[in-house]
Amino acid sequence: MTEAKIIDGKAFAKRIRERVAKEVSILKENYDLVPSLTVVLVGDDPASKVYVTSKGKQSSEAGMGSNTIHLDENVSEQDLLDLIKKLNNDTSVNGILVQLPLPKHIDEANVISAINPDKDVDGFHTVNVGRLWTGAKSPIPCTPFGCLQMLRETLGDLTGKRALVLSRSNIVGKPMAALLLSENCTVTIAHSSTADLADRCREADILIAAVGRPQMILGDWIKPGATVIDVGINRIDAPEKGNNKDGSLKSRLVGDVNFDEAKLNASYITPVPGGVGPMTIANLLRNTLIAACRQKGLAEPNL
Ligand code: NDP
Repeated sequence: MTEAKIIDGKAFAKRIRERVAKEVSILKENYDLVPSLTVVLVGDDPASKVYVTSKGKQSSEAGMGSNTIHLDENVSEQDLLDLIKKLNNDTSVNGILVQLPLPKHIDEANVISAINPDKDVDGFHTVNVGRLWTGAKSPIPCTPFGCLQMLRETLGDLTGKRALVLSRSNIVGKPMAALLLSENCTVTIAHSSTADLADRCREADILIAAVGRPQMILGDWIKPGATVIDVGINRIDAPEKGNNKDGSLKSRLVGDVNFDEAKLNASYITPVPGGVGPMTIANLLRNTLIAACRQKGLAEPNL
């Protein structure tokens, strides 16, 4: 039996970052413009801190301006909204990203809708959601766009393929469905109330899993020859790695797909880690670069 080929997200993401860095250096040289991203982090969630540090580091490596504003866990919603207003009015800030999730006392929807849609490099503002679904130019949400880039590079034209998106979340599932639709796929969106989920998955030429449940999708849910994109990032105990100093079990990251089973049925598959994850930050840099060009009325690089 031939095993699926691995889609190397790390390598794809590196190429995007290199192209962004090249475009940034051209902007600097020709227009004295340094695209700049401001990330707002509220509280001390360890996973969010890791993402934010990585976003800052990779922006700087691409030659962009990078600023992280760290607010106390107890900051009021109004103070956060006031900060966003200030950033909206600051012409040296091209991209604004508020790291999610936010503490429970803050309404995420209010915060997202306070960001100037043209600086919304996550593409989550309702104006940008509308632009995406109607085919207008918009910042494209970074994770689903990363999935699409890998699919296009791996499969070429996606026209006529049956795609199943296992998620209807605003940040992954819905924008992913919009993007696949715009590529002429026949798209099914599945979720926690979908009946006969395994059978729906078995119909898919392209299966996107973004559920957040470790290894839920089994090998025999995969249509032979399908392409599987695993967005899920889940931490599970790894007894084979032994114990931490405090006696607790060490852990490892897995996706939503049972990789070892699925690779026996699929043609192509993304690993976790090293698949979709690296594409997300690479596209955040891309979106910041494009936002800067749009704000200054410059031609957008084709990335
Ligand atoms: P959400 O919890 O917002 O959405 C999960 C979706 O999965 C929902 O639509 C939910 O259905 C559906 N779902 C949950 N359980 C089941 C089930 N048993 N059967 C079928 N569908 C189910 O998650 P996110 O979109 O925020 O994230 C999803 C995963 O993707 C997480 O593991 C997250 O860590 C990862 N992620 C990875 C990123 C990356 O850069 N690689 C970026 C963003 C997320 P319903 O709507 O009915 O509740």
